[in-house]
Amino acid sequence: MKFGVIDGNGIGPEQIKATKLVLEATGLPIEWIAIPVAEDAMKKYGHPLPQESVKALKEVKVSIKGPLIVEKLHGRITCVHDDGSEHTYPSINNAIRRELRLFVAPRAIRGFPGISGRHSTMDVIIMRELTEDVYVGWEHQIGDVAAQAIKLTTRTAVTRLSRYSFEYARRNGRKKVTCVHKANALSITDGFFLKCFLEVADNYPDLVVDDYFIDATCFNLVKNPEVFDVIVTSNQYGDILSDLAGGLAGSLGLAPGANIGEDAAVFEATHGAAPDIAGKGIANPVSLILSGAAMLRHVGCDDEARKIEAGTYDVLTAGRLLTPDLGGEATTMQLADAIAREVSR
Ligand code: NAD
Repeated sequence: MKFGVIDGNGIGPEQIKATKLVLEATGLPIEWIAIPVAEDAMKKYGHPLPQESVKALKEVKVSIKGPLIVEKLHGRITCVHDDGSEHTYPSINNAIRRELRLFVAPRAIRGFPGISGRHSTMDVIIMRELTEDVYVGWEHQIGDVAAQAIKLTTRTAVTRLSRYSFEYARRNGRKKVTCVHKANALSITDGFFLKCFLEVADNYPDLVVDDYFIDATCFNLVKNPEVFDVIVTSNQYGDILSDLAGGLAGSLGLAPGANIGEDAAVFEATHGAAPDIAGKGIANPVSLILSGAAMLRHVGCDDEARKIEAGTYDVLTAGRLLTPDLGGEATTMQLADAIAREVSR
């Protein structure tokens, strides 16, 4: 069983070490294939996302990734392909997703009793579109007076995202699928998103379907999180909503995620590289451990995934070994060790 590994930077390498420990505790014969990206790739290939690494990610098909820092104002990155064509992306994280044609980020964010307060029963899956919207990267400066970005919404992308989300809901016993948009203010782009979503929804009469404005979604996620089950939304709204859900659960360190495509998948936490706590050994590893469990489920190892999820739940709700973001004093590896012990037991 081979998985690619991008260590990432900031808290990435600490979270990756913890996640490997827990996944290996399942007893599965896992081989990790290190794939250089960012600083490692600069040293080896002179580019933060060289085609060698893109090819390695495609070849191994399923990978796990630590977060990657993107400098404010200087995130854009150009990838040059073997045929001479090139594409400029808004950030390295966006580039990885789009070079591999990953189109949806399912982020299953839930609360934990004793940790998440009134959000302890929150259980929501945010399906974030990954290929377009304002993150398509078509921005430009107009002299020193203005700057402009294009918001792209295509039928192909919304239909693909919606189908994936409805199929996911059916497969996983979910009852309701909600489209989140702002089709009152953006009646053409978000209006088209909603229209394409509803066309797909017609094929799933067994599921409850509704839609919310993005602002009302934020309010309701805070106030009545139980109204949401599966949320289908565009790239930027999904980006922001997943951090909100992580915060409501108690920490971004509880928010796992994945990036899924037809030919490849990269599993990563919802959050960033947390430079404020990097290198201190105190990052919460749960977000990446649960992303790792989702990765095992993706390759058909449901029992092992369930064991990791149950072990994580037991350790967190016992409340004895919590990292500082959850009010405890445990280190990344102490928490990971405790989960690994539960898994191998
Ligand atoms: P962030 O998500 O890294 O951190 C926000 C806050 O949450 C910080 O206080 C951080 O300490 C905390 N936090 C995040 N993960 C945690 C964990 N596992 N355990 C405990 N605390 C945790 O957001 P930011 O500070 O805005 O971004 C930092 C860098 O990460 C930026 O360069 C940004 O561009 C990048 N980023 C990368 C990704 C990605 O790799 N997919 C996603 C978002 C941001």
